[in-house]
Amino acid sequence: LSAKSQHFLELEDKYGAHNYHPLPVVLEKGEGVFVWDVDGKRYYDFLSGYSAMNQGHRHPDIMKALTDQAAKLTLTSRAFYNNVLGDFEKFITAYFGYDKVLPMNTGAEAVETALKLARKWAYKVKGIEADKAVILTATENFHGRTISIISFSTDPVSKEGFGPFTPGFVNVEYNNIDALKAALEDKNVAAFLVEPIQGEAGVHVPDEGYLSKAAALCKEHNVLFIADEIQTGLARTGKMLACDHENVHPDVLILGKALSGGVLPVSAVLASDEIMLTILPGEHGSTYGGNPLACAVAIESLKVLKREHMAEHAQQMGELFREKIRGLNSPLIKEVRGKGLLNAVVIEHADKDAAWEICLKLRDAGLLAKPTHGDKIRFAPPLVITKEQVLECVDIIASCL
Ligand code: PLP
Repeated sequence: LSAKSQHFLELEDKYGAHNYHPLPVVLEKGEGVFVWDVDGKRYYDFLSGYSAMNQGHRHPDIMKALTDQAAKLTLTSRAFYNNVLGDFEKFITAYFGYDKVLPMNTGAEAVETALKLARKWAYKVKGIEADKAVILTATENFHGRTISIISFSTDPVSKEGFGPFTPGFVNVEYNNIDALKAALEDKNVAAFLVEPIQGEAGVHVPDEGYLSKAAALCKEHNVLFIADEIQTGLARTGKMLACDHENVHPDVLILGKALSGGVLPVSAVLASDEIMLTILPGEHGSTYGGNPLACAVAIESLKVLKREHMAEHAQQMGELFREKIRGLNSPLIKEVRGKGLLNAVVIEHADKDAAWEICLKLRDAGLLAKPTHGDKIRFAPPLVITKEQVLECVDIIASCL
């Protein structure tokens, strides 16, 4: 590592909390599928900010929406109306087919919002006795880092030392319809919160039919089907939503990350009037939620996805990528899995740090990826990657195995 890079590593180490373990590379510029470090070295970005950069770094149309709006008005809070929020609400509800949207900022906040909506709906509409509502969640889930969200995590590292936890959540095994069916027997169940593909768990793609069966079971039991598409949504998996692969229309849809093309934190919860109108003025909100700058950026970020056919492209590039990586027949590769451009490679090696070592090699060869859960490497480039670039990246990966 250069002295310049080392300087920034030391700054973060000395003055920042140690809640992350980044790959040692210090970036200062991004454009499209590329990022550059402080020494001017160029890399392919195969993390895309955990799928926040689907549209690529600094997409020109999104940057224009950002700067145009920044020149006029950035924040009003929801104490007043602004002339962009309504347009955004109309646009995004039509885009995904919902009555209403509730705008927030980060993914975790949107998940919290969905949980609060589910509870309100349980008491006001479903008629569950006060404070008895149960929300089902999946094993190995990842929905964020707040106390309530980690309360239903099954990852000890996320939970240890952070108790006491929020009650009212019951875990059911992911990708197990019978387990869900059994859990739905409890009449106090209000909702089932699930990732259509588990991203942080290492890109776990459930069996075909799991989502549609789960959604149908929820409907049968008058239970809300809540899809967390923060990582899987917005063209990442080869459809606008991962739920679209099974024609599932979630009762509650949670979006974040690429909703702003990686420009600023923007998240949203979409639902029907029946669900959304259970929350009244003063009962929930956020100072930055629905700010005009975020709304202008989000509208353009969504438009870009369709204008540039990013879902179809992700589907094709993903198939090519997996086929080529499988074709390497590397003894180090135990499994290649994913959908669209959300992929993971499971590394087979006696050394438990092998995935980290490979990521360091990839970095040196000009490709940035990050290991997850020790033995998995996620490969999720911006969706603007071209066929030639995919092939070049496969060569880079091959050279590092
Ligand atoms: N839900 C899912 C599926 C995610 O992948 C993430 C982030 O990785 C979150 C929620 C949390 O989002 P944020 O980090 O913006 O709070």
